[in-house]
Order: sequence, then C-alpha cells, then structure tokens
Amino acid sequence: MEDEKFDAIVVGAGPAGSAAALTMAKAGMNVVVFERGDQPGSKNVMGGVLFREATESAFGQFWNNGAPLERAVIDQRLWLLGKESVVMGGFRTEEFAQPPYNAFTVLRAHLDPWFAKQAEEAGAYVITETQVTDLIFDNAKVVGVRTGREGDLYADVVIMAEGINAFAAAKAGLRRDFTMENAALAVKEIHALPEEVINQRFNVPSGQGVTILLTGEFANNMMGSGFIYTNKDTLSVGFGAIVSHMVETKSRPNDLIEELKAHPAIKPLLEGSEIKEYSAHLIPEVKYEELPRPYGDGYMLVGDTAGFVNFLFQEGCNLAIASGRMAGETAVEAWKKGDYSSATLQAYGDKLKDSFVMKDLYSLRNAPAFFRDHREFFGIYPRMLNAAMQEFLTVDATPKRVKAFEIFHMVRRTRPLWRIGKDMVGALRAFM
Ligand SMILES: Cc1cc2nc3c(=O)[nH]c(=O)nc-3n(C[C@H](O)[C@H](O)[C@H](O)COP(=O)(O)OP(=O)(O)OC[C@H]3O[C@@H](n4cnc5c(N)ncnc54)[C@H](O)[C@@H]3O)c2cc1C
Repeated sequence: MEDEKFDAIVVGAGPAGSAAALTMAKAGMNVVVFERGDQPGSKNVMGGVLFREATESAFGQFWNNGAPLERAVIDQRLWLLGKESVVMGGFRTEEFAQPPYNAFTVLRAHLDPWFAKQAEEAGAYVITETQVTDLIFDNAKVVGVRTGREGDLYADVVIMAEGINAFAAAKAGLRRDFTMENAALAVKEIHALPEEVINQRFNVPSGQGVTILLTGEFANNMMGSGFIYTNKDTLSVGFGAIVSHMVETKSRPNDLIEELKAHPAIKPLLEGSEIKEYSAHLIPEVKYEELPRPYGDGYMLVGDTAGFVNFLFQEGCNLAIASGRMAGETAVEAWKKGDYSSATLQAYGDKLKDSFVMKDLYSLRNAPAFFRDHREFFGIYPRMLNAAMQEFLTVDATPKRVKAFEIFHMVRRTRPLWRIGKDMVGALRAFM
C-alpha cells in the first residue's frame, strides 16, 4: 500500500467512521478505513442505546438485516435516588416494540464489526491493527495519513473519526484537546443474568428492554448520572461524571459504581449476576462555543472527534452516525466536483447546521454550563423530593394539610424559595 492514493481515507472504524465509509463506498469512491483495534469495536465502550432513525439513515433497515441487537427499548425510566429511597418516573409504550422501532440496546463489541462489514461489503477496505499517527499536509491541505504498519497513504479527503481522544487530529492542530471541564469519565460493567430472570425483574418479554437513568445522592455532588440497560442476557450498568468534578470531589469511579450497586432499589435488580466486563471511557461534553470547526482543506471531523454528544439526553451514537453520513455525502459531492477545498467541504458544516445534530447542540448550548454550576439538580433536589414523597406517603395520625405544611417548611429550610424559583427558571432556559 506504500504511497498508494485513495479517494478517501477514514481514520477510526467506530459508528461515525463506518457510516462515512459506507456512504462513500456505496457511491463508488475508493475508500480505506484504518482502525487501531484488532477489530472494530474492540476498544469501544457505550451504555448503550442505539437510536433507530439516525442509524437507519446510514445503514438502512439494520434490524431486518442481521445487525446484532439486544432488545428493543420499550420502557424508559428515570430514577432519582435518595440514600435509601427512590422517586421514579418513566414512559412505556408497546409501539416502540414494533417496526420501525425507536431504539435498541446494543453491545458495541458485536455491533461495530457489523457496521464495518456493511462498509466493506459496499467496497471499502477496512484495515485493523493500524493506528494513524500523523496527518500529511501539502501546504495547509490534508493530503494523506502516516500509519505505523502501512506507511504513508494519500487521499483527496481524510475523515477523522477517531473518537474523543483524537490524537492524530489534535496533533495535526485540527482540534484542541478537550479539557477536564469538557469531558466526562464513564465506567461500565456488564453483568450476566439468565434472560428469563431479566424479563421477570424488569417486567418485559424477551426481545423487549428497559433503560433506567439514575441520578441523586450517590452522584456525590457532581454533574453525573448512572444507567442500567437490559440486554438479552446481560445488564449494562454504569456511571459517568464530569472529569473536573471527579478530581474536585476526589471521587473514584469504582467507589461510585459500588455505591450505586449497593442502593436498596438497585441491589435486587443485580442479585446473583456475574460481572463479565469492566471498562472506562471518556465522553465529550463540550461547550457549544468551544466545538471545533468540523471541516477544512481536505478533511472533515465526525462523531466524538468533533465533540458531537448530547450529554443531557445521553445521545452520542446517533450524532456520530448522522455526522459520518453527512461527511460521506459531502465527500461524494466533492469527488464529483473534483474539488476538496474548505469552500466545498463547508457543505458538511451547512448540512450539520440544518440537522438535529447542531440544532440540538445549539438549543442546549447553555445547559452544560448551567448544570455544571447548579449541581443541586444532582444532589439537593433529588434528596428534597425523596424526603417530601416519604413524608407525604407516610400514613399516620398527621392530617394531610399539616403534612403539606411540614413539607413546605422542610423545602424552605433546605433551600430558600427564591433560589428554588431561580434554579427552575434557569433549568427551563437551559433547555431552550
Ligand atoms: C459509558 C458510555 C456510555 C454511552 N452510552 C451511550 C448511549 O447509550 N447511547 C449513545 O448514543 N451514545 C452513548 N455513548 C456515546 C457514544 O459511545 C459515542 O458518542 C460514540 O461511540 C461515538 O462514535 P465515534 O465513531 O465518533 O467514536 P468511537 O466510537 O470512539 O470510535 C472511534 C474509533 O476510532 C479508533 N481510533 C481512534 N484513534 C485512531 C487512530 N489514530 N487510528 C486508527 N483508529 C483509531 C478507535 O479504536 C475506535 O474504534 C456512551 C459513551 C460511553 C463512554
């Protein structure tokens, strides 16, 4: 392959890279993908919920075409944990169990090879165990990559889909390193349990699944949340929080996940399970104004490399796939024009702006800073809500009116009413 020239090089065979490669290969471009892992997915970590719409936009009707899916998500729960109690909310519908579906639980070690195989079957070369170490420039234009195993390779366009760390993109100055404020550290365990036990404990039939998003006291005054997702015969259990908050509160991810698992509402769900895997990974949580420009002369940045994660809604894979597809489509247009300049690749930036990717990140642009500064939403408020519910639902000789009055005073003692009002208005604004 020494000194060979391709139409496009993709760096990284995660969901973003495979979506880009598939889109370009389908159009007839000569594409090579480099993946540093021994197979796609071997280095990847995700909760993980795969959202159907964005995935279908790149990979077609994947649920009918052999994609390794665990369960169709029909039941989404939000649990606010107190020390010993929990306030629960959620939504369940059988409609999400029918085509075209809304979301699936997945295991990335199985899913990523399937994504990469779709790109390969469309004609892309996927080369594993090969890390791209540097980008090659001609003046200011990216013209190729340097790899450990395959030497230098050239292409008209290079799509950087390296995930959050993006060592090659950062080294080449296409993106800055994300700071401790702009990244969350997540840890995840996979617990094995018989399928029937999962069905019973989570009240779902085989093939249908539950997601539980968790926050509250265990988050140790950090902007962070936990999750439990049902797979076929395993559970994905994890916790993530902003890295700078972990440093500041001297929290250790291991302790947090142990505390979560010991909670009286969680423990029975995991009882008798065997831990099969433990992994840790970073998640971008980049302030909108600090997102890198995702294109330039001869290159585009996609997925986590570009910081495209909707942290509040726990969405990353769909933004990665959608951005990979849009970068692929832009590369095809550039290939037809024979022009890979920044002016042409700007169409990728325009597509992103017209899509849910930038629209959601823009409308939530104030949320990261707001919730980082208002950690009450991960501590005081869940605690207050738990205490209020416990008081209200304890049936004793106290008349209900007196109880309501006592709850009101408890709330006021915990946090002045004007501050609660200000926090709530701020939270609403952060979502708009
Ligand atoms: C614990 C956790 C839970 C999550 N849960 C969810 C969820 O439930 N739903 C959701 O939508 N998102 C979730 N996310 C986010 C989601 O995983 C990411 O947004 C998504 O994986 C990004 O895809 P990507 O293709 O951009 O990057 P990645 O998936 O990180 O893939 C990058 C690939 O590039 C390879 N690579 C890197 N550098 C090089 C190099 N220089 N040369 C060659 N190869 C290279 C890597 O080995 C890897 O295969 C979660 C993340 C974490 C950490």
